[in-house]
Amino acid sequence: MDYDVIIIGAGPGGIFSAYELSHLNPELRVLVLEKGRPLEKRKCPIDGDKIKNCINCPICSIMSGFGGAGAFSDGKYNITNDFGGTLFEYIGKSKAIELMEYVDKINLSHGGEGTKLYSTAGTDIKKKCMQNKLKLLDASVRHLGTDINYVVLQNLYEELKDKVEFKFGTAVDKIEIIDGGYEITAGGEHYSCGKCIVSVGRSGSKWMENICKDLGIETKSNRVDIGVRVELPAVIFSHLTDELYESKIVYRTEKFEDYVRTFCMNPKGSVVAENTNGIVTVNGHSYEDSAKQTENTNFALLVSKHFSEPFKDSNGYGESIARLSNMLGGGVIVQRFGDLVRGRRSNRKRMEESFVMPTLKAEPGDLSLVLPKRILDGIIEMIYALDRIAPGTANDDTLLYGVEVKFYNMEVKLDENLETRHKGLYIIGDGSGVTHSLSHASASGVYVARQIV
Ligand SMILES: Cc1cc2nc3c(=O)[nH]c(=O)nc-3n(C[C@H](O)[C@H](O)[C@H](O)COP(=O)(O)OP(=O)(O)OC[C@H]3O[C@@H](n4cnc5c(N)ncnc54)[C@H](O)[C@@H]3O)c2cc1C
Repeated sequence: MDYDVIIIGAGPGGIFSAYELSHLNPELRVLVLEKGRPLEKRKCPIDGDKIKNCINCPICSIMSGFGGAGAFSDGKYNITNDFGGTLFEYIGKSKAIELMEYVDKINLSHGGEGTKLYSTAGTDIKKKCMQNKLKLLDASVRHLGTDINYVVLQNLYEELKDKVEFKFGTAVDKIEIIDGGYEITAGGEHYSCGKCIVSVGRSGSKWMENICKDLGIETKSNRVDIGVRVELPAVIFSHLTDELYESKIVYRTEKFEDYVRTFCMNPKGSVVAENTNGIVTVNGHSYEDSAKQTENTNFALLVSKHFSEPFKDSNGYGESIARLSNMLGGGVIVQRFGDLVRGRRSNRKRMEESFVMPTLKAEPGDLSLVLPKRILDGIIEMIYALDRIAPGTANDDTLLYGVEVKFYNMEVKLDENLETRHKGLYIIGDGSGVTHSLSHASASGVYVARQIV
């Protein structure tokens, strides 16, 4: 075999697998194949000047390259089993938390020392939420911030590059079963290995589906989360964000009894556009460095859609809605909450008169032409519910960007070692459908490395 272990994908899952393998057994010959670029060469061409919107690069620098989708993220490592994935269903709750805490320690020793760990334990906000039909989920959150997250990744790369071989700009095409292991084909080259860890994240979801078909690995998919990103003056949410940084709050709508939840909260952050497989959706991040902070806080409000038989393509459903917003707005659409509830589109004039300055240049439009009624009604209901714990949330000038879609990779059939039906072939991170977050993806990488060693 050319290598003992080949890791496909250098996102958090792949990086932490490589880290743990090289620590536990420095003799192992490990190769990491990554379709994107090295960290310092990752650059999104949108400069807000010559290039204002996503130009659909063949390989998106936001989603791909060393650090994966998390490289320019806010670096919020949530240590919890309440959200971020279902790793605990495979490895047990205490093991999952232990691994997330281990990842946290590694992040701290690679540049993250001095960053804050927030916790929901003992907060009065929980009671206030309950009194207003809202539920605050339990978690500890390490907030690295976009800038420190980048430094941690740089330091991890510096440490790993002499122990593990990296090949960037190398998209894996095929995985074939050979005697005693696997043959990996990428760009016409062939590499053989005894064990293979697949960690291709969300950007590798379509590829992953094909690989599972080729290798007869069972999958299932029935969920997508659809919603908007809310942006408002940071002071409106400061009592929540100062104490908890990120609060995951869930609301059950009165009309349809659907669950709407807050997701990815970015105090004093910026709203950003994101390109997944050519579809532009919205996301957000914030910086630890106060010089880069804004006056606004943003967070997503998402409604989960679970489909039953015979419909199977939940991601296709989410993509169609995102495509509709791309068709109407050329990318992301922004609307004032006041315009939405009055049933009118936001236009440039109304946006200019708004008290809230948008942090993302998006096309003013009408989200009611894009989002299904049931989803939109749920979002509006939740905004009024949040207004009771954070007065001002339902102000006319609160901005809603659409659409935010959280695609879930189809869930791959794995055993308690995160191993497929083929011995020595492991699927981890968001690409497995088991995790949906930095901490869970990283923890799954450590877990599999330990199984292998
Ligand atoms: C803007 C943004 C902000 C986010 N903020 C947070 C946050 O604050 N907290 C949080 O918990 N989560 C956040 N997330 C989600 C988080 O980034 C992911 O959950 C996490 O990165 C998943 O890690 P992963 O290793 O499984 O996959 P990824 O990070 O997606 O990495 C997969 C890697 O595999 C590579 N790849 C794909 N296919 C192939 C192939 N065929 N051959 C070779 N390489 C391939 C990709 O290029 C990519 O680099 C955010 C995501 C985005 C986009």
